[in-house]
Amino acid sequence: MLLAKPRGYCAGVDRAVVAVEKALELYGPPVYVRKEIVHNRHVVDTLRQRGVIFVEETSEVPEGALVVFSAHGVSPAVHEEAKARDLRTIDATCPLVTKVHREVRRFAGEDYDILLIGHEGHEEVEGTSGEAPDRVQLVDTAEDVRKVTVRDPSKVVWLSQTTLSVDETMERVDQLRERFPEIADPPSDDICYATSNRQVAVKAMAAECDLVLVVGSRNSSNSKRLVEVALQAGARAARLVDYAHEVDQAWLEGVETVGVTSGASVPDVLVMELLEWLGERGWGDVQEVTTANEKIAFALPRELRGTGEGARSSVR
Ligand code: SF4
Repeated sequence: MLLAKPRGYCAGVDRAVVAVEKALELYGPPVYVRKEIVHNRHVVDTLRQRGVIFVEETSEVPEGALVVFSAHGVSPAVHEEAKARDLRTIDATCPLVTKVHREVRRFAGEDYDILLIGHEGHEEVEGTSGEAPDRVQLVDTAEDVRKVTVRDPSKVVWLSQTTLSVDETMERVDQLRERFPEIADPPSDDICYATSNRQVAVKAMAAECDLVLVVGSRNSSNSKRLVEVALQAGARAARLVDYAHEVDQAWLEGVETVGVTSGASVPDVLVMELLEWLGERGWGDVQEVTTANEKIAFALPRELRGTGEGARSSVR
């Protein structure tokens, strides 16, 4: 059994979960959270049991109540709506998503057309586009590249969602550059360190694996990308599961080497449960495949500073 490292929780997810835990500790339940705080079923269910109420929109939060914005970020319109309804807010947007929001504001301010590579309907993309809805166009597929129109081909920049496949994004950029040779690059990588590190690690082991199991939820972009990257890098099969019990025994027929990794929103306890499950079925010899050691940590959201810096989430 090969076990990818790094895998699981990133600094942005840990910070967002701690933010909700701190809010519960300081203000008591119920704490409202707009959208899933991070895209993981186990994390969401655990926090719900502790008194969190997840809502789709701020309009569902009672006036004057406390609402936490998720790690994926929100548009300025959502902040305004919360203010108009007198909501107290804690913004758990990952600082690496906030960085992309800043880039959108800067390029929109300089009158660029912004081509945002990302997945249609993803919350992060909705929040990022909302910084400058008149200037941002979403580019998801190759077909979108063909359809996109800009006002001035010498004033175009591409930016991206933080949790995409690195290789696919570069493919999309090449296609965009064919149409707009003067397109500007983002000032720094928009795909975050956690997403790219997890892809590098799964690539390093995929070719040796008959099956790669990725622990992660179906609405987790970076987890789904790990399945695709594993297959592209030579794994014979790759599957996404939330829990060990979702593994179908039939997937293991004829399998000698199993690879395991997990998305950036996945507590490692779920990976350990999967290892135990596999160990009971003969895959007890675990070798870790390490491609990076991550030491990144983010300060708590501004509204919670001074309430326990360095704390780690208890849902792990
Ligand atoms: S996956 Fe990347 S952008 Fe998303 S929360 Fe983690 S560090 Fe931040």
